[in-house]
Amino acid sequence: MTTIKLDIIGYGGMGRYHATTIIPKETNIMVNGVYDIDPERLTLAEKEGFRIYSSLSQLLNDTDSEAVLIATPNDSHKELACRAMRAGKHVVCEKPVMMNSQEFAEVLDVAEETDRVFMVHQNRRWDEDFLIIRQLYQTQEIGELFQIESRVQGANGIPGDWRHLKQHGGGMLLDWGVHLLDQLLFLVDSPVKSVVSELSYVLGDEVDDGFISYITFDNGVKSLIEVGTSNFIKLPRWYVKGYSGTAVIHDWDLSGDLVKQVGQVAHHELIPVQAGQGLTKTMAPPSEDAAQRLSLPAPVFEHPTFYTNFYQVIRQDAAPVVKNAEVMRVMQLIEDIFASAEKRAVIHY
Ligand code: NAD
Repeated sequence: MTTIKLDIIGYGGMGRYHATTIIPKETNIMVNGVYDIDPERLTLAEKEGFRIYSSLSQLLNDTDSEAVLIATPNDSHKELACRAMRAGKHVVCEKPVMMNSQEFAEVLDVAEETDRVFMVHQNRRWDEDFLIIRQLYQTQEIGELFQIESRVQGANGIPGDWRHLKQHGGGMLLDWGVHLLDQLLFLVDSPVKSVVSELSYVLGDEVDDGFISYITFDNGVKSLIEVGTSNFIKLPRWYVKGYSGTAVIHDWDLSGDLVKQVGQVAHHELIPVQAGQGLTKTMAPPSEDAAQRLSLPAPVFEHPTFYTNFYQVIRQDAAPVVKNAEVMRVMQLIEDIFASAEKRAVIHY
């Protein structure tokens, strides 16, 4: 089967990462050329060995390439996606797919009308920390998971320029929030029952610099999703509780702990421990015969890489790993999170 040539629109941090790191590992996709409105980024792309286009029209009229990657600020995705599909290109679009679900619905109409593949780069479904949690969810090694806490925290504020501005789709909910919510909805196979959220504005920007959302599912799973950009001390990346154990993944280095309950907790045998100015049995560590410390499971890669799948969808009519209906669900959840924070209310479904 022939290679798919792809052009990149937007050679900033992420466009360049696709061009120099993600796509070179693929055998069936190759970067054809690059377009960016910033001449300095074009010069860099040229230096790095890529053909460059002097305008978007020149890129879209180049029949050499079948596909484009859109890696520009969020508010430009819609127009670029529609123009690219109308010019006959299949599209990979960076997240967040669009500014809202209405825009996304319009883009999906264009995809249908032009019969083009449109796929969103939800790359964090392949993150190893997420795959470990997915393993625990599916194998029930520590019992059915009923509490899932997923956090990313940093202390560097909001990076870059456009991410500070509402008009460009800035803020952390539309940034890291998209990844964490996509992972959560991909993980938990149940409809959402309720959402309550709060956005943070610690840094004084017009957009949120973080948020906390409590999302409950019909099957009883409760989750906490948190993004922070002024956290000088981080909480673990994942903390999950099952009916017979607890697991923690501290960071992307995959360090963590898994403690599994074995046998019954014999309350009468617990030895009280000193706690502050008092004693406690309740909060004493579990006895050695009641709990077992195990290694976290290894991540399991169930799917082809994102671009291999994109290739298979175009050439072999395969099912996309990232389905547009799933992306739409995330987009709608994001709208509900904004609404819940604004109204200071729980949203019930
Ligand atoms: P960036 O600011 O580093 O790069 C954006 C680039 O787009 C700049 O070079 C800018 O000149 C160019 N640009 C702006 N408008 C353009 C237009 N109309 N046509 C052509 N070029 C244009 O931003 P970034 O961090 O690379 O983010 C780009 C997109 O990638 C965003 O949607 C972001 O959310 C997403 N992203 C995804 C991930 C991920 O892990 N999936 C990580 C980072 C960023």
